[in-house]
Amino acid sequence: MSSPPSTKTYTGGCLCKANRYEITTSSPLGIRVCHCLDCQKATGSAFMANIVLPQSEFRFTQGGTEDVLGSYTCSETLSGNEVIRRFCTKCGSPMYAGGAMSTEMVVIMTGTLDEPTELQPATEQFIKDRRSWLDEVKTEGIVRFNAMGV
Ligand SMILES: [Zn+2]
Ligand SMILES: [Zn+2]
Repeated sequence: MSSPPSTKTYTGGCLCKANRYEITTSSPLGIRVCHCLDCQKATGSAFMANIVLPQSEFRFTQGGTEDVLGSYTCSETLSGNEVIRRFCTKCGSPMYAGGAMSTEMVVIMTGTLDEPTELQPATEQFIKDRRSWLDEVKTEGIVRFNAMGV
């Protein structure tokens, strides 16, 4: 017997709290760890850990407006698709990214979640660019891609 999917709500925001958001979803969320060089630049760190979900499941509860949310359109991406990266203009936290052509999906930086510990990595991509001092992600059932995954 399968029960109907339960809806979960996650909250998050940038470091200075000027931007706050809420995710309401019935899909199980798996973190995508990306080691590509663009993600290293965009996060200013060794890798990006993000989740991809429909735009309709993501909404700002505070901020999200031009005075506190900046955007950068990156056209020289590895996939060839333009990506719009959004960040807090006050504290600089990377918030989320979306396609310039499609507004259907958003990519949320999981470091901005208030309680990120429950979510586990499901995929790891661009492992060819993983820093040499970093071990592979060892969650159960993880799917790895040498370059671009899903
Ligand atoms: Zn901020
Ligand atoms: Zn990447």
